[in-house]
Amino acid sequence: MRDRLTKERRSWNMSRIRGKDTKPEMVVRSLLHRMGYRFRLHGKGLPGRPDIVLARHRIVVLVHGCFWHRHRGCKNCTTPTNNRKFWVKKLEGNAARDRLNRRALVRLGWRVVVIWECETANPKSLDRVQKRLQKALV
Ligand SMILES: [Zn+2]
Repeated sequence: MRDRLTKERRSWNMSRIRGKDTKPEMVVRSLLHRMGYRFRLHGKGLPGRPDIVLARHRIVVLVHGCFWHRHRGCKNCTTPTNNRKFWVKKLEGNAARDRLNRRALVRLGWRVVVIWECETANPKSLDRVQKRLQKALV
């Protein structure tokens, strides 16, 4: 009995961890599929290895977690109070690297569409994401 509980608890934890990193990206990928677009994943040789690359349109789509990539003004953009210095340095470092990567991509002639995790969280905001993508992809 105890073993079973432990197992269930463990897989629940795992699914939460996995979901945190990849669920928004999966949502955006299936959205693009439904819209009929083909894309590559994790563009090798491009700055920051962007999540989704639409080579024919010369567009990269970055799906960013609000916490890890500092979505300013978003309720999910929190800073842990424990070990605060470490977290500020780490998270601001992520955001700075994102800026550099975006700039480098633009310099190489790519258009960059950033989609935030919170924008993929419900059908209404996902509608807006779809409109943004449609606009970018014409
Ligand atoms: Zn957000």
